[in-house]
Amino acid sequence: MTVPIPDPGRLVEGIRGGDRRALARAITLAESTRADHRTVADEVLDTLAPETGGARRVGISGPPGVGKSTFIEALGTHVIDEGHRVAVLAVDPSSRRTGGSILGDKTRMGELSRRADAFIRPSPGAGQLGGVARRTREAMLLCEAFGFDVVIVETIGVGQSEVAVADMVDLFLLLVAPGGGDELQGIKRGIMELADLVVVNKADGDLASAAGRTRADYAAAVHLLRPKWHSWATEVLACSALTGSGVDDVWDAIDRFDTAVRSSRELDDARARQATAWLWSEISDALIDRFRADPTVAGLVGAVEADVASGRVSPTVAARRLLDSFGGR
Ligand code: GDP
Repeated sequence: MTVPIPDPGRLVEGIRGGDRRALARAITLAESTRADHRTVADEVLDTLAPETGGARRVGISGPPGVGKSTFIEALGTHVIDEGHRVAVLAVDPSSRRTGGSILGDKTRMGELSRRADAFIRPSPGAGQLGGVARRTREAMLLCEAFGFDVVIVETIGVGQSEVAVADMVDLFLLLVAPGGGDELQGIKRGIMELADLVVVNKADGDLASAAGRTRADYAAAVHLLRPKWHSWATEVLACSALTGSGVDDVWDAIDRFDTAVRSSRELDDARARQATAWLWSEISDALIDRFRADPTVAGLVGAVEADVASGRVSPTVAARRLLDSFGGR
């Protein structure tokens, strides 16, 4: 089935005019690997660039089963009740669980997905993390241009995807379960260091007292970490996504964070650094694509790889030989 590619101008108009189908189409084009799709997406993104940046960007991570989707549903509905518009995106390069999407199962956030002021977009599917993260960042910008003022980016607690998400959001929230230290929960110290907010979920029923202890453990642990911001010290809270208790405190903390890092101008600096880092990652991706597509390089690469694999030539020398044949064109 061939669907005609929409006109970029009409997509821009649609997004400005609040047409959710236009938003969804633009995100689909941004996620596409086809060059003609990318060209349209790039034009839409370029035109809308001045209209982006208006959202609070919140990354949420935690091990599978900790309650991320339950929590995002509870937080999302609370935030909508406060008068905001919420988009939920996902970064999950590894998952094939539900046809390549951790949010593919709409029932996971059934109540939130029915809200008119919510937009839930599954992960762009398995692929190279860099590619998945870039597409999610572009989806985030499109959601901002559409008028969502809170964007939540979810990632499952594996691999490097937390770092990619932390590089595109303002606040990184780590969700943990009661009981067990971070080693027991498989949370790496590096991921703890990314957290601006640690939330102990499932603080209800039999788990309530364990949640209190876990909260104290994490509070002691984050105290020892190097602070990410001058104007914000990582906080540790407890809540129950199931009953909703404490979810308002989490939003209150996100709000206070936002006020602190905006008034200190640290948020502007952080976003500027993130944008510059994305520039360079785009450049390195594009350079590698051009390098691989170069006919001279393509003609040599098989033999050079074989030389390196067999140990006849060192990777450093081989890389230089290929780069010299490319010549940076
Ligand atoms: P995810 O894999 O991190 O997205 O976790 P889910 O949101 O799918 O939740 C995993 C399980 O934990 C489900 O059975 C939820 O009902 C349960 N759960 C989530 N939040 C809470 C909570 O606050 N309290 C309790 N007791 N269970 C919860």
